[in-house]
Amino acid sequence: NEQVFRSSLLPVPLSRRSIFTHLLGTFPTTPHLVGGFPASSPAFIDAATGVTISRGQLRSFALQLAHSLINLPEPLRHQPNGTTTTRPTVLIFSPNSIVWPIMALGASAAGFTATLANSGYNPDELKHQYVDAGAHLIFVHPSLLDTVKKMLTSIGCSDMHSRVIVATSGWLTGVPDTKISGSSGFVRLENLLGRGQLSCEVNFDGERSEETVYLCYSSGTTGKPKGVQTTHYNVTSVVDMTKPLWPNTRPCLTASLAEVTGPEQPDVALGSLPYFHIYGMVTLLLLPIAICTPSVVTSGFVLETFLKAVEKYRATIMVLVPPILTVFARHEAFNKYDLSCVRTVLSGAAPLSRDLVLAVKKRFEGAGYNVTVTQGYGLTETSPIVFVLPDKHAYHHPGSVGVAIPNLEVRLVREDNGEVLTNIKGGGEVWVRGPTVMKGYLNNASATAAAITDDGWLKTGDIAICNKDGFFTIVDRRKELIKYKGFQVPPAELESLLLQHPDVADAAVIGVLSTETTELPRAYVVPARAVAKEKAETFALGIQKWVAQRVAPHKKLRGGIVLVEHIPKSASGKILRRELRDRTASDMVYS
Ligand code: AMP
Repeated sequence: NEQVFRSSLLPVPLSRRSIFTHLLGTFPTTPHLVGGFPASSPAFIDAATGVTISRGQLRSFALQLAHSLINLPEPLRHQPNGTTTTRPTVLIFSPNSIVWPIMALGASAAGFTATLANSGYNPDELKHQYVDAGAHLIFVHPSLLDTVKKMLTSIGCSDMHSRVIVATSGWLTGVPDTKISGSSGFVRLENLLGRGQLSCEVNFDGERSEETVYLCYSSGTTGKPKGVQTTHYNVTSVVDMTKPLWPNTRPCLTASLAEVTGPEQPDVALGSLPYFHIYGMVTLLLLPIAICTPSVVTSGFVLETFLKAVEKYRATIMVLVPPILTVFARHEAFNKYDLSCVRTVLSGAAPLSRDLVLAVKKRFEGAGYNVTVTQGYGLTETSPIVFVLPDKHAYHHPGSVGVAIPNLEVRLVREDNGEVLTNIKGGGEVWVRGPTVMKGYLNNASATAAAITDDGWLKTGDIAICNKDGFFTIVDRRKELIKYKGFQVPPAELESLLLQHPDVADAAVIGVLSTETTELPRAYVVPARAVAKEKAETFALGIQKWVAQRVAPHKKLRGGIVLVEHIPKSASGKILRRELRDRTASDMVYS
């Protein structure tokens, strides 16, 4: 019953220090090296302009920003409601941009916690995270300043101008920041640079490595989004534990990518993932720095722009989510670009089926390219990577998420009346233990206790099987969570919103699979008053629209509305989602 799976790879030595020290550690005796690699090598490349930040520049900008953050006037070290904490928290509210790594690493160098918010949030959604995380300052992309202003007004913040830093990038790219009207009186990012530089980052050695560095929001197995406390030790560990399984590790040891061609070409990473999701943060921001792989910064996904960037920057590793692979498999634009540089396509954040792996592989082969299509699995609570399918096994195990990364323990568990059984043949819930498991949910001891057992096992809410060679496949999800294109959609959040609608008596939300290889949130709604048959469609579409006006785009009820007489519930009042899932084929859906 106690069978524990461990990676076939040997455990790697781990460090107890800050993520900043780990990646960019200052070595006064070897100024030409940053984190062990040449200071001049490119760290991030802006896809739109080609402007590059080197490792040395990144460290210097981050330490300059940290200097300004540490010297903030005393009142700004308090939250708007007056609460004081030992270490301030900054909220980053921005789509990917070339200045994102400066903000994230500058905050770490200053010893601050960064809470990363979905850039699609509306003022209400942002308020939940800003207040719950106890944030002090906000870094905001110019295009999102209005949302922040509305949010701060709604909580009665009186010193808005000093709490907000507009994350301008024009000073670096030379392209003027658009949509910056209405920002007068607000501090811009470049105003905080060049005022001095910390000689050394704030230290998180030893036990301090257990302090929180990132606070992403996840609904976990149930309920509304909660702050996941990811520590310095979690992220330094995930970086080191993932390295042995990372597709190619050919560091870039030169100042210019153009200097090297052919088989000697170093790796270049390019992905569609937002940095505000821990998957994007680790795979496209932290890990590339650790292995000296330049990472191309793109914002949003537009197929042709994306493929043009792959061709232009000769990207070797693409980090994506399944719906984008579907586009790759089908879209004719795919054939217009020279993608011969690509060696690995790594998918994550949602299930990637065997069929889609094979379809994408075939598409690349049809164009004459030999590309490995592989995937990883993880969750915000595990910082995030748990399983990775190594390149060399991808061909033999399409659809599998691979093996556990080193230093992790995994069990497949079935809980039966409180008794924990490990049932390998029939599969079971994935439980994970190791250095990358979060410290817990912020200010939520009961949710933490429900998620992590006393002896340190995190319950993922996902069901997996393991084959005789030790390769795992995720076969089901037993938690409530819906994933739309890799983004979390917590049903509890939509259900409580629906219940605020005056014409809704009860509601339940589940995910239904669409042809685009993603789930779509669908609502089952009990009308508060009987609705005549001929008015049913107008009623249902009215509710769908009402919700769309109140949520971030990824949470819209794209799976439609089904009107029902009652929501199936257990004796204790829990929604029986399985019953709803079993009947989706016969649903009368309005959308
Ligand atoms: P998040 O915390 O937003 O990263 O979401 C984590 C959840 O996404 C996991 O618990 C899974 O349900 C799902 N997930 C992530 N990667 C995969 C994958 N490769 N296959 C199946 N589900 C996945």
